[in-house]
Parts: sequence; C-alpha cells; structure tokens
Amino acid sequence: MKNSAFIALGSNIEDRYTYLKKAVLELDSFDEIKVVSTSSIYETDPVGYEDQDKFLNMVIKVNTSLGPFELLDTCLDIEQKLGRKREIKWGPRTIDLDILLYNNENIETENLTVPHPRMKERAFVMIPLMEIRNSTLPVMKKPFDPLLETIANKEGVRIWKQKNGEDVFALFEN
Ligand code: ATP
Ligand code: MG
Ligand code: MG
Repeated sequence: MKNSAFIALGSNIEDRYTYLKKAVLELDSFDEIKVVSTSSIYETDPVGYEDQDKFLNMVIKVNTSLGPFELLDTCLDIEQKLGRKREIKWGPRTIDLDILLYNNENIETENLTVPHPRMKERAFVMIPLMEIRNSTLPVMKKPFDPLLETIANKEGVRIWKQKNGEDVFALFEN
C-alpha cells in the first residue's frame, strides 16, 4: 500500500455518529485500503447552506493500493450504500466522503480535483486534518500553523468526541 490519502467525512442526518463509523469500517473492509489514523470527531455549524442541522466531521488517513480515481469511486459507492442523496448543493447528507490529499499529487479533472479545492477555507476540514497531521509528526508537538489563524468560523467547530490514544478504532468503541 504505497499511497497515502486523507479523506474528510461529514454527516448531518441522524444517526450521524453511526454513519461516520460505518463509512470508516466500510473503507477499511477493502483489502486495498487500510485506515491508519483518525481525528477526533467535531461538531460543526453548517457552512455554505446554513438552514440545516449541525454536522459531525472528522478526517482520516488511509494507506491504499488504489489509484486516486479508484479511491474516489470507492468513496462514492460507500456514500450510495449509506443512503446519500444529492438534492441541495451543500445540503443535508447521511455521509460525504471527500478526498483531501492523495500523496503529493495535483489532479484536475472533471470528476476529481486534488487537493480538494475548498479545503483550505474550511475550518471543519482543516482543524481535524491538522490534528492527525500533527500526531504523525511527533517532533513538532504544537506547531504554529499560520493557515489556521486565517480560517473563518473556527468558533463553529467544537470537539464532539475526543480521540484517545493511537488505536484507530477506539474512537468507535463506547
Ligand atoms: P464539496 O466538494 O464542496 O465538499 P460536496 O462534497 O457536497 O461539495 P458532492 O455532491 O459530494 O459535493 O460531490 C460532487 C462531485 O465532486 C463528486 O461526484 C465528485 O466527482 C466530485 N469531486 C471532485 N473532486 C473531489 C474530491 N477531491 N473528493 C470527492 N469528490 C470530488
Ligand atoms: Mg464535501
Ligand atoms: Mg463530496
């Protein structure tokens, strides 16, 4: 599994926590994908289309032998399986799975853009991403990240379930 990717998950239809959990387990169930790191789960105010319920968001890191387009197809299949409907742009969803980064690649096609084009302006993506990125760089315990300073709506992002320890699936045990 020579490739690594970061995937953002979001849900704002109940049971939000179960949708996150199922999506992570579905991804990990593929021989070609191994979930190697998970952020805490954050509760976040909706952005873009505000007249909807709060989200749960998290970011995970996977190692994979899939190429970026195969990984996207897998994410879209899991969204389907978990009942994702596309009615309103940025509207309510059982689960959204967005590829943030795939190795260091820059991809710009009709169906896939990596790095994800809107990630930098989204605190609900950048805060959990920083959490796992920082935990994979043990030397820099608390790196100052100028990007985080400039993200709007940081106050709309709150820890909902704290990750404890390094076990990837411990987050989903009660
Ligand atoms: P946003 O992309 O702004 O977060 P969204 O996640 O609600 O919005 P979707 O309806 O989930 O948007 O996805 C629409 C399409 O975006 C997908 O069918 C997919 O082809 C395309 N897409 C492009 N780049 C990516 C990416 N990096 N990750 C996931 N989907 C992507
Ligand atoms: Mg999205
Ligand atoms: Mg999406």
